[in-house]
Amino acid sequence: MPTDPADLLRQRGYRVTGQRLTVLRAVSGEPHMTADAVAETVRAEMGSISIQAVYDVLGVLVDVGLIRRIQPAGSPARFEARVSDNHHHVICRICGRVADVDCAAGSAPCLTAVDDMGYEIDEAEVIYWGRCPECRSQARG
Ligand SMILES: [Zn+2]
Ligand SMILES: [Zn+2]
Repeated sequence: MPTDPADLLRQRGYRVTGQRLTVLRAVSGEPHMTADAVAETVRAEMGSISIQAVYDVLGVLVDVGLIRRIQPAGSPARFEARVSDNHHHVICRICGRVADVDCAAGSAPCLTAVDDMGYEIDEAEVIYWGRCPECRSQARG
């Protein structure tokens, strides 16, 4: 399997465009970005791009497996370039900060279903919710 993003895009029948590579770079540079934050970063680098275009490019990159979409309940989708290790996320209920958490135990997917219902399971999505250290210390202060 090719690891070059351009090769991956071509292999899946997508054209390699400056926009797609710039969006990928933005997501690689800062994990758990929202689409709005990606748009801001991309605009700083290559000028105007519509939020719809950003969503389209993010969709393509998710489709080819270059980035992963996280969709926490009640918050905008986040995107990250750390794919394929099935890591989990811890999210602050107060400020929305997201951090990576490694698999709970063993190799991915770390949650072995008691009964897999005959499915071939390849991913377990876990989100831990709580309060981040900063919000905790603010609550104390
Ligand atoms: Zn917080
Ligand atoms: Zn992550």
